[in-house]
Amino acid sequence: MKKIGFIGLGIMGKPMAKNLLKAGYSLTVYDIVPEKVEDVVKAGAKAGTSSKDVAAKSELVITMLPNSPEVKEAVLGKDGVLDGAKPGTILIDMSSIAPLASKEVSERAKNKGVIVLDAPVSGGEPKAIEGTLAIMVGGPQEAFDQVKDVLGVMGASVTRVGEVGSGNTTKLANQIIVALNIAAMSEAMVLATKSGVDPEKVFQAIRGGLAGSTVLDAKMPLVLAGNFKPGFRIELHIKDLANALDTAHEVGVPVPLSSAVMEVMQALRVDAHGADDHGGIIQFYEKLAKVQVR
Ligand code: NAD
Repeated sequence: MKKIGFIGLGIMGKPMAKNLLKAGYSLTVYDIVPEKVEDVVKAGAKAGTSSKDVAAKSELVITMLPNSPEVKEAVLGKDGVLDGAKPGTILIDMSSIAPLASKEVSERAKNKGVIVLDAPVSGGEPKAIEGTLAIMVGGPQEAFDQVKDVLGVMGASVTRVGEVGSGNTTKLANQIIVALNIAAMSEAMVLATKSGVDPEKVFQAIRGGLAGSTVLDAKMPLVLAGNFKPGFRIELHIKDLANALDTAHEVGVPVPLSSAVMEVMQALRVDAHGADDHGGIIQFYEKLAKVQVR
């Protein structure tokens, strides 16, 4: 599959598209913001005029959009992917959306002979740039086998977890673990700092032990530098936790800790921190304890 369409060229989509270009794939790209298209065109892609246009020119279409409504608009809406795609086209939606929305998009696509895989990612902008994302894929094995190499350009690990929707269920599990880890790190580091211990030293002392984690290693240096530039915005994490709470309640799973961290993030959004990186969750605890972890 050499002719790829890429829709959604934001923080994640842009470097992912650029890595596909570097690997020699021919790309037609589209975003509702024209400047984002121009930037990737400069790197060698062709500009599409709509999602429909991108799909008409591609064998494989990748979407990397904020949430379920945007994916539905770009795929099912007017001048969307399904208006332009030929039967046999594979659509990989790499956005983090509700698993039920993935299933709905897949059902509608089937009527047009388009096969859908949901393939959300973990790793954030740095790993998108390096091409080392963790990619969790739901959908038919046969389609997965056809696109595994393409996904391998963007990710260090590409794992099929089940049928369509299961990629996004896996991503919800991932987002619960990340949110709760950042909150735990924040609570602990505010305690250490206000008790008079240097948080940098605490970080160095514990990172090799059982409390060490990818989250701690990625977020603590940014917290210590007071750098909350996204990265992954708190408002996007709110979106993921909202999807997690809805899905959990639908299947009958109480999620008390996720609900608590959701309210922490809601308070940060009210406090104008919604566009900060999710490492900025610590600002909630800092405000309560009147101390800064730097
Ligand atoms: P972003 O807001 O930077 O990018 C989304 C892009 O989609 C924007 O450029 C926007 O203009 C475009 N867009 C919106 N609606 C559109 C439409 N109808 N048609 C065409 N383009 C449209 O978001 P992002 O940070 O790149 O995140 C994308 C997805 O990846 C989200 O689901 C997010 O949860 C997930 N994700 C993000 C990160 C991260 O660290 N940023 C990490 C893992 C997963």
